[in-house]
Amino acid sequence: MKFNQFLTDSESKAFDLEHRRKIRFNIGKYNAAVQTGLGFYNDHELARERASYLKAKVMNHLDEYLLEFERNFTARGGKVIWAQDAADALREIGKIMARRKARTVVKAKSMTTEEIHLNDFLGKNGIDSLETDLGEYIVQLNGERPYHIVTPAMHLSKKDIADIFVKHLGIAPTDDAQQLVLTARHLLRDKYTTAEVGVTGGNFLIADTGAIAVTENEGNARLSATFPRTHIAIVGIEKMIPKLQDLDLFWPLLSTSGTGQQVTVYNTIYTGPRQPLEKDGPEEMYVVLLDNGRTNLLAQPDKREALHCIRCGACLNVCPVYKNIGGHTYEATYSGPIGSVITPHLSGLAENKHLSYASSLCGACTSVCPVKINIHNLLLKNRQQSVQQGLADSEEQRAIYFWKLTMLNRRLLNLLPARAKNWALFRMLTLVGWNKRREALEVAPKSFNKLWKERR
Ligand code: SF4
Repeated sequence: MKFNQFLTDSESKAFDLEHRRKIRFNIGKYNAAVQTGLGFYNDHELARERASYLKAKVMNHLDEYLLEFERNFTARGGKVIWAQDAADALREIGKIMARRKARTVVKAKSMTTEEIHLNDFLGKNGIDSLETDLGEYIVQLNGERPYHIVTPAMHLSKKDIADIFVKHLGIAPTDDAQQLVLTARHLLRDKYTTAEVGVTGGNFLIADTGAIAVTENEGNARLSATFPRTHIAIVGIEKMIPKLQDLDLFWPLLSTSGTGQQVTVYNTIYTGPRQPLEKDGPEEMYVVLLDNGRTNLLAQPDKREALHCIRCGACLNVCPVYKNIGGHTYEATYSGPIGSVITPHLSGLAENKHLSYASSLCGACTSVCPVKINIHNLLLKNRQQSVQQGLADSEEQRAIYFWKLTMLNRRLLNLLPARAKNWALFRMLTLVGWNKRREALEVAPKSFNKLWKERR
């Protein structure tokens, strides 16, 4: 069961001091940079308000914006694929690969491709899928999933990466970071020109232009999208913004909140395949508009704001739970606070409801979110929904039932001797794991109520 695995993994990670040291070091660097980056805003709060308003407007009319996007994108020769779920997306991508007789795919970092398990699918169909983002490349070499939605190899130190390169690429041991980067770059360069298909995600879908905007720091997404004859962009339907000029709001918010950069190094707007007088670019371009559970959230007005997320990663970097248990423990494409909010809706509440309890509810996530998603409140709503749907464990339900019964009945509470209360308390706290590393809580031999009566 996923829940039991989650408990086991989180305990082992939380007490892994080496893991904690690396994460604190790496996240600490980002958090310091973000503080500097925020200083460049005259009024960051106003920018957040505007972004939140725009995303709410888009979500309330998403059907219209999606059609507007499709109209404008197809007018320039682009093709839109509507994918209700991962199977839809993979089937259509498979057809394109077959038509192109694809043997190699170059892939830029994209969480939607993780979501639909594109690499596994391509591998099973005899197609090499090569990650071109350095962090993704490293975790792919190491046979891992991305650890973080923005920085996939955040859990690795320079030494770890050098060891991976020595093991998988056969290079001589080195602690020179530049040498490691050049090794990867050298190996990847040739692949761009030989791959038949390039795959990217998309940070924004722009309705009025019929374009996608891709943000990156290495230039690998540009190469993946422009060298191969076919470019496929797989984008969640919630990534919509109304107008091209809205990027002046969202680009800096995304980069500042995620990495502290005023603006990310490469920001590219793709409007479709190569046009008649253009010299470069792909011959054909597809945008896969991925639902995959997003409309489950859209259908719930009180939780819809979870779709405002622009995947900046800021909420992960401040989350005390994420910093202790790490990204892999979530066993989900999207980890951290926002992952705990959306995964139960994208991948099933029964299987993933425990993620919504993986929070101290401190609200740090909500306070840094550039689009002002009330993340910790949404976690509470998920918990409420799982209880309302009868998904709570029967033992937990019984414990809460008796707790409520006694707490609402003063006489009953007074009837129970301290020994009985201690027994019940012990059972309940054992259930939630409280007693494992703490002294057992004990109620006083005489309750306050009893003492009060005696004093009178
Ligand atoms: S929920 Fe907010 S802070 Fe978290 S990744 Fe999304 S936009 Fe960033």
